[in-house]
Amino acid sequence: MGGRLIDGKALASSLRAAFKTRVAALSAQGHRPGLAVILAGENPASQVYVRNKVDACEAVGIFSLKIDYPANVPQETLLAKIADLNADPAIHGILVQLPLPDHIDEEAVLEVIAPEKDVDGFHAVNVGALAQGNPRFIPCTPYGVMKMLEANRIDPAGKEAVVIGRSNIAGKPMALLLLGANATVTVCHSKTRDLAAHARRADILVAAVGRPRFVTADMVKPGAVVIDVGINRLPAEEGGKLCGDVDFEAVKEVASLITPVPGGVGPMTITMLLANTIEAAERELET
Ligand code: NAP
Repeated sequence: MGGRLIDGKALASSLRAAFKTRVAALSAQGHRPGLAVILAGENPASQVYVRNKVDACEAVGIFSLKIDYPANVPQETLLAKIADLNADPAIHGILVQLPLPDHIDEEAVLEVIAPEKDVDGFHAVNVGALAQGNPRFIPCTPYGVMKMLEANRIDPAGKEAVVIGRSNIAGKPMALLLLGANATVTVCHSKTRDLAAHARRADILVAAVGRPRFVTADMVKPGAVVIDVGINRLPAEEGGKLCGDVDFEAVKEVASLITPVPGGVGPMTITMLLANTIEAAERELET
């Protein structure tokens, strides 16, 4: 008997339907939420992500501004544009699509975004607030995972949660959120000894590794909730399809609940970007 699917696509679309009402209410007060997305270079995956973000904004009525630069854009140009956007009253969220070209200092760019417009939650101020248990903007991918757990009535309190991966975008904020929700959290990474033994203890197992089918069925405790953050493109000889970090077909036979790829965490990530942008506009109106 297989585990139940956590349908990220369905949850994303019900949340987005509710966002339309909030955006309409803000717009009626002359305060339409606005998101600026900066893309530097021609990375094809980044172009798709940016297009998806812009389309998702338009679908719920958020104003979106897409700003494209060539790969050789000077860092000063990016910093000056962000300064303009920080001061622009029509813009409530600023997102710089990562990765940036090699000659640009990513940290320096992220740090000039005004923390109150940092809808990705990557600015040190927002990372610090999350670490202190007082989040202002939560990074969109782990935020989406928490919403998926909540929608499926999975309360992390007292549970063993194991996060594989410790990136600033996914693994680290995921671990902080689960800790904030009172799980007992273990973070595994490339230097972890006997990772499978840690994984097997998990009631909630989150994979954010970037390696196709890294989590195999023997690494999963029967009845565990398995969240697959990975988005990997298989080589052409394997069909070129998208694949998660979890060996879905085998693991779904062991897990009680599991997210598919595609259709799991991915749609929730963009949804939480919309949520953060609307939240930013609402907060500004309150001040
Ligand atoms: P990342 O920055 O490359 O981090 C990968 C993490 O996995 C690192 O902490 C690394 O450990 C760990 N790792 C790599 N190989 C390992 C191994 N053999 N054993 C144990 N740990 C290992 O990647 P990321 O940005 O977090 O992304 C992870 C995956 O999630 C990717 O597939 C990415 O495309 C996907 N993603 C999806 C979404 C979404 O919307 N669903 C959003 C963001 C990312 P070290 O720290 O020790 O190197």
